[in-house]
Amino acid sequence: MDGTKKVAVFWFRRDLRWHDNRGLYEALNSGLPVVPAFIFDRAILDELEDRDDARVGFIHSELQKMNREIGDIGRSMDVRQGKVEKVWKELLRDYQVVQVYTNRDYEPYAIQRDKKVQSMLAEHQISFHSFKDHVITEAGEVEKKTGGPYTVFTPYKNTWFDIIGREGGENCSLEDSPFLKYYPSEKYLDNLVRIKGTGVPKLEELGFSESSIKIPSRVVKQSVIKQYGKNRNFPAENGTSRLGIHFRFGTLSIREKARKAASLSNTYLNELIWRDFYSQILAEFPHVVDGPFKEKYARIEWINDTDDFKAWCEGKTGYPMVDAGMRELNQSGYMHNRVRMITASFLSKHLLVDWRWGEAYFARKLLDFELASNNGGWQWAAGCGTDAAPYFRIFNPHAQLKKFDKNLHYVKKFVPEYGTDNYPDPIVDHKLARERCLRVYKEALDS
Ligand SMILES: Cc1cc2nc3c(=O)[nH]c(=O)nc-3n(C[C@H](O)[C@H](O)[C@H](O)COP(=O)(O)OP(=O)(O)OC[C@H]3O[C@@H](n4cnc5c(N)ncnc54)[C@H](O)[C@@H]3O)c2cc1C
Repeated sequence: MDGTKKVAVFWFRRDLRWHDNRGLYEALNSGLPVVPAFIFDRAILDELEDRDDARVGFIHSELQKMNREIGDIGRSMDVRQGKVEKVWKELLRDYQVVQVYTNRDYEPYAIQRDKKVQSMLAEHQISFHSFKDHVITEAGEVEKKTGGPYTVFTPYKNTWFDIIGREGGENCSLEDSPFLKYYPSEKYLDNLVRIKGTGVPKLEELGFSESSIKIPSRVVKQSVIKQYGKNRNFPAENGTSRLGIHFRFGTLSIREKARKAASLSNTYLNELIWRDFYSQILAEFPHVVDGPFKEKYARIEWINDTDDFKAWCEGKTGYPMVDAGMRELNQSGYMHNRVRMITASFLSKHLLVDWRWGEAYFARKLLDFELASNNGGWQWAAGCGTDAAPYFRIFNPHAQLKKFDKNLHYVKKFVPEYGTDNYPDPIVDHKLARERCLRVYKEALDS
């Protein structure tokens, strides 16, 4: 590639695909040859606790795959690592960049990082264009009729449907909505520059190694989505899509999945709306990153017993559904949604361990970790979030087991010693823990 030729850079982040990629589509239609760039951000990598973090391996293998795909047409990705601003300086040195395109990332760190990059580019008279791709609706698009963000899901969802262009209901078709438009970026890949000597660094060069954790497939049987409403609550069933990681890193288009879901399962579509909901909560109420949505819950006096927390992390609490969930998470990087609710409720309410400890543990382990949804899920479970459900509704882990895994198929898969002498006694009595939680919450909220 001739370094004097004017180019646009498309900066990949949580959108690792050639197909139906909004910002990439705009870049490829800008009239300039496009450099497809990705930066392994050391500020993020250096914070990760596990050197075999499966998410890094996943990003790496997806980039290799993408690079191979454009290799067929004589093109290559430019993948680098380092502190983001430093890498951008290198990119500006190596190419004559006149425009930069990207898809928006809504996490607080990313927003700050992008602001810095944008102002650095502006100093070089380089324009920065960002697009919505990661969500269907972003903050500010679904608002109350009187203005301002929704903080309760159901009215948010109703307005979401109005705005997307129709009322909710069975067998609806959303295909024509501009919110779910298809951007055929993959058809314009000839507009990528021809670059030599670039490509993807080795995983070891990034300081990471392969994980033994298997990444869920991005291909889901139609029957799973069709039967989702019926099966989704039973962790022993293959009843959910396991697409979380693909939505997180954009290896699937959320618009494409929503278009398909709309004709197959309203319940599934509903879950994708939860994702938008929590994304806008994070954007509108950034204080949730560090503390409760409902601020008076900050007064709760957590016990924070480190032995209890360790037993919870290791799946050794003596509550089989909790233990199965934690072991599933530790072994596979995944935990079923029903069990996420049970384990999170157990930690915050039965053990009175600060929900932020659990949130951080999930963030470390979940393949599909998204700050907004993880934070929303944890605040929901601890009772301090946007949800209207009163805190005194405390999950009974025994009742949850009877209802959602009565044949113990899920429990036995992850806790084979359950029912033998090797299985530990409960670390806390359910009735006493419930009463203690009610007392501690009440004291905090009445004070
Ligand atoms: C304590 C707790 C922590 C959670 N942490 C995360 C997280 O870090 N990342 C994450 O994506 N989800 C999180 N969730 C939500 C939900 O549990 C997962 O999205 C879901 O279990 C992922 O499995 P799946 O891909 O098979 O989802 P499916 O049931 O097949 O749902 C499809 C997709 O819809 C979205 N979705 C489903 N449920 C929710 C929800 N309640 N909130 C937001 N989006 C949802 C996800 O993108 C999911 O992949 C959390 C829930 C709880 C209770």
